[in-house]
Amino acid sequence: MGVSRNATKDEIKAAYRKLALQYHPDRNKDPGAAEKFKEITEAYAVLSDDEKRAKYDRYGHAGIDENYTQEDLFRGVDFSEFFRDFGFGGFDEFFRSVFDLGGFGGRASRSRGDDLVGEIQVSLEDIANGRSVSVGVERLEYCSECGGSGAQPGSSRTICSVCGGSGQVRRERRMGGWVSVQIMPCTQCGGSGRYVDKPCRVCHGSGVVKRRKVIEVNVPPGVEDGSTLRIPGQGNVGPQGTPPGDLFLNVRLKPHPLFKLLDNGDVLFETEISMVRAALGTVIEVPTLYGTKEELRVPSGTQPDSILRLRGKGLPRVRGGRGDELVKVKVKIPERLSDRQRRLLEEFEQEEGKGFFGFRKH
Ligand SMILES: [Zn+2]
Ligand SMILES: [Zn+2]
Repeated sequence: MGVSRNATKDEIKAAYRKLALQYHPDRNKDPGAAEKFKEITEAYAVLSDDEKRAKYDRYGHAGIDENYTQEDLFRGVDFSEFFRDFGFGGFDEFFRSVFDLGGFGGRASRSRGDDLVGEIQVSLEDIANGRSVSVGVERLEYCSECGGSGAQPGSSRTICSVCGGSGQVRRERRMGGWVSVQIMPCTQCGGSGRYVDKPCRVCHGSGVVKRRKVIEVNVPPGVEDGSTLRIPGQGNVGPQGTPPGDLFLNVRLKPHPLFKLLDNGDVLFETEISMVRAALGTVIEVPTLYGTKEELRVPSGTQPDSILRLRGKGLPRVRGGRGDELVKVKVKIPERLSDRQRRLLEEFEQEEGKGFFGFRKH
């Protein structure tokens, strides 16, 4: 990626942003651009992760190939910020731009469908209650026109004459006294082992079509912002007879109009009471993440910005139990007073300290 060995995360990010913009297949129509884009994206996934980067620094490419599958490599890497910045419009674009390229280098396994990576936006209430959330996913499914065979109805699929149906070809190379044998996917049939003489007009022979689907995802209670949910079987379909890939969703917490998330499952709610109520004490109603309203006693003599606590009304904690809802009490000072209110306050002031606090008579 053209960064130095001790580049910081920000430098790596900046370098990736620049290169990705340059080589993104949506922008760059050069034949080599897509391959280059995959390479730099893979490099970014390695360099932005401390553990993977350490393996790469020590063992080079082999350290990555031997330790991570393709899905491991991209797990936990957040590309969304780049794609937002690029103006490619989010995840659908992300899928289209990246995964249509047939996955990244590394282990090309055709024994199952490719995994997909996306994002799920959750609210604090979703996390508190563990609700199901709808997510739009664009993924490959079998073409309904040809039933996934890729052959125009009426025509048929024949065994590929080049690879004899195995989907692989051997390439032998002589090097001195050695023969090196390389097994490669057959280019004639794309590795499927079957050859279609009249391709389906809907899927053009691939047997798959891209379809947008809305799936319901169960958000486990207490799931953390930035964590990843794995949804088995909701990735792309693979070659027929193999299981589909999985869907990995990065959890993103939506900002909440009322509550702010604090550490350890605590949430903060702010409310306002009059100075008189603060002085006298009162009982207020406070909303919770669980859809209920709780009565909270505000003791007399409560000072501005005091924090009161509703036990167990925060988020479920990772280690069990729940956090608290902290209620910050703002005290409102009236901006305008009626004549009577003014007189009463003056009287109060005289009672309190006989003008001790610098009261000025009008
Ligand atoms: Zn073949
Ligand atoms: Zn088809």
